[in-house]
Amino acid sequence: MKAFRLEAPGAPVLADIPDVRPGAGETLLRVKLVGFCGTDLNTWRGRNPMVIFPRVLGHEVAAEVVCGGADLPVGSSVTISPYTSCGACPACANHRPNACQRNQTMGVQRDGAMTEYISVPRENIYTGNLGLTELCLVEPLTVGFHAVSRGRVTAQDTVAVFGCGGVGLGAIAGSAFRGATTIAIDMDDAKLAIGAKAGAKHLIHTGREDLHARLQEITSGKGPDVIIEAIGLPSMFRAAVEQVAFTGRVVYVGYAKEPVSYETRLFVQKELDILGSRNALPEDFREVIRMLESGMFPVEEAVSAVIAMEDAGGMLAEWSEAPERFTKIIIAVS
Ligand SMILES: [Zn+2]
Ligand SMILES: [Zn+2]
Repeated sequence: MKAFRLEAPGAPVLADIPDVRPGAGETLLRVKLVGFCGTDLNTWRGRNPMVIFPRVLGHEVAAEVVCGGADLPVGSSVTISPYTSCGACPACANHRPNACQRNQTMGVQRDGAMTEYISVPRENIYTGNLGLTELCLVEPLTVGFHAVSRGRVTAQDTVAVFGCGGVGLGAIAGSAFRGATTIAIDMDDAKLAIGAKAGAKHLIHTGREDLHARLQEITSGKGPDVIIEAIGLPSMFRAAVEQVAFTGRVVYVGYAKEPVSYETRLFVQKELDILGSRNALPEDFREVIRMLESGMFPVEEAVSAVIAMEDAGGMLAEWSEAPERFTKIIIAVS
């Protein structure tokens, strides 16, 4: 069967790979759509240290059931969790398999879904009253939703989300879905506009506006209860700690590309909860599906382009040249 594979950074091929054979407890799926996110862009650029080449990409998936069971009729539309967990490491023992020490994400540490058929453990398959495009958006949104869950966001909170890319958008939608007053922060007007449609009540353009002054104004001088950093810039890692309210929660979901130095006095003085957030849990998948079913997410606006699998290499090259032009790229696999 056909697969989109990177032989090395920036070197795509449409490869012929062996047909997939479902193992015990697995379900055979026909892949319909695959989404690209920043992880795939990093892999293309050779900046993802977890990828060994050659690698079939694809971890954001909408698919159709080929070989079903009682609760999963043939032909039904589904999405999947692309993670694995070992069941034995400290994260797994603490019921947090999303942070499994030995996790292997599809398209990263093992081959992904940019191929005609995949075989997936039943427990990694999710259904909902959703179309294929929406199903393809579930996994990328779960990453932001998990950050919201780590920040213990409630309807009483004011939440500032740094960055309106794929993860930030999920954090905005997740905070708004929980009823929090949500502030979207970015340097791109188009991305801020999508943030507003995803539920942000306030927008801050950090190229034109003073972040501190605007956050103080919106929160009556207190600072946000929760700040979610979804950009990965050292200056924003620091700004999160500086701008958050006393006794607030700071959630880091972006990887900083270089070391960050801090005024650690604020950790203590504000008695902060500083939290990391990685991947997502089954309850995050279920919450995203409920949110999408409610129709509150701007699905059309969130997708920058839909292309054929043959064009995926060209699109990655184009995206790498102009990263700000695209948020979510979807590949129609079949
Ligand atoms: Zn992704
Ligand atoms: Zn584990």
